[in-house]
Amino acid sequence: MIKTDVVVIGAGPVGIFVVQQLGLIGLKAEVVDNLDKIGGQCIELYPDKPIYDIPALPVCTGESLTKNLLEQIKPFKNNFHLNQRVESISKEQDGWKIQTSEKKTFISPNIIIAAGVGSFEPRKFTVKEAEKFENNGVFYSIKDKNYFKNKKVSIFGGGDSALDWAIEISKFAEVTLVHRRNEFRGAEHSSTIVRQLEKEGKLKIKTPYQLSSIEGEDKVSSITIKNEDGKIEKIPTDCVLGFFGLIMKLGPIAEWGLNLDKKTIPVNTESFQTNKKGIFAIGDICSYPGKLKLILSGFHEGALAARACFKLARPNEKYRFEFTTTSKTLQERLGVKKSD
Ligand SMILES: Cc1cc2nc3c(=O)[nH]c(=O)nc-3n(C[C@H](O)[C@H](O)[C@H](O)COP(=O)(O)OP(=O)(O)OC[C@H]3O[C@@H](n4cnc5c(N)ncnc54)[C@H](O)[C@@H]3O)c2cc1C
Repeated sequence: MIKTDVVVIGAGPVGIFVVQQLGLIGLKAEVVDNLDKIGGQCIELYPDKPIYDIPALPVCTGESLTKNLLEQIKPFKNNFHLNQRVESISKEQDGWKIQTSEKKTFISPNIIIAAGVGSFEPRKFTVKEAEKFENNGVFYSIKDKNYFKNKKVSIFGGGDSALDWAIEISKFAEVTLVHRRNEFRGAEHSSTIVRQLEKEGKLKIKTPYQLSSIEGEDKVSSITIKNEDGKIEKIPTDCVLGFFGLIMKLGPIAEWGLNLDKKTIPVNTESFQTNKKGIFAIGDICSYPGKLKLILSGFHEGALAARACFKLARPNEKYRFEFTTTSKTLQERLGVKKSD
C-alpha cells in the first residue's frame, strides 16, 4: 500500500507537468500509466513530428518535449508505475483507494485523471483461443525478452514492433514472422534485415497469412495459419506474439461513477474537480465550455488542479501563492541555488 498526496492517472505531457506543479507546492505524486513508456500520445503517436505551439519552444518533437518535461520534474523524485492500468477507485476512510491491474494499491486524498483519450491498449487476436492463453503463451508486449530464449516463437504483424522483435528474438529463439500482406509496413531498413535473415535461414517468413487457431491444452503447442486461397499451415509454437498497433479505450474510467460527456469528464474550471470531491480531471480527458485539446491548455489545468489538491492533502496548512523567481522555499524544492 503506497500512501501519497496525489495519484496521477496518465503519464502523457499533462500528467508529467502536473508533477512539477504539485512538487513546487510540496505535494508528492505517484504516476500510473498503462503504457510501457512515459509520454502519452506524444511518444506513442508522433515522437518524431514537430510541435510548434508549446509556449517558449518554437519547435520541439513529441520525444524532445517528453524528455524536457522529465528533466523539469527531476527535483521531485516521483515514481512512475508503468505497464499497468488503474482499474478501480473506491472511497475509504483515509482517502481514495486506487488499484492497478498489477495489484498495486495507493491511498491518497486526491486523484488527478490525466488519461487523455483513455488508455492505449493493444489490438488483440480475434481467434477465441487467444483469450484463454493470454499471458500464458499469447502476448501483446514484451517485458523480458529472455522469457523467449530457445522457444518456438510466432510473431504476427507487419509494422516496426513486429519487425524489430522478430530481428531481436531470432538471435536466441526459433522465429516465424507471419503477416497478412506480402509487404511490411515497418521501416525499410528493418524489412531488408528480416528478408536477409530469412535468406540466411535465421527466421521464417509466412505471408500473406492470418491466424486461424491456436492449439494446446494447458499451454500453446501449435498455431494454424491460413491464406486467402484457403491454404492452411500448422506451425509448432510455444509463444505467439501479436503486434497490431494500439487502440485507445476509455476503459475502467467509465465505471468510477464520474459524470461523463461523450467520453470526456466534465469539470469546473476553478479547480478542475469532477463531480467527486478529491478527483480532478485535466488534459484531453476533461471537458468544459471552450475546452481546447492542446498541450498548453492541459498545463494550465494542471496548475489549478494542483492548488486544489493542496487543500485536501494539507487541510491544516494555508496555501501561499509564490513565484519560482523569488521564493526561497520553491527554489529549495527545485534544488537550485538562489542567486542574490
Ligand atoms: C498526430 C497528433 C499531433 C498532435 N499535435 C499537437 C500539437 O502540435 N500541439 C498540441 O498542443 N497538441 C497536439 N496534439 C494533441 C496532444 O498530443 C494532446 O493534447 C496531449 O497528448 C494530451 O495530453 P494528456 O496528457 O492529456 O493525454 P495523453 O497524451 O493522451 O496521455 C494519457 C495517458 O493516460 C494513460 N491512461 C489512460 N487511462 C489510463 C488508466 N486507466 N490507467 C493507466 N493509464 C491510463 C494512457 O495510456 C496515456 O499514456 C496532437 C495529437 C496527435 C494525435
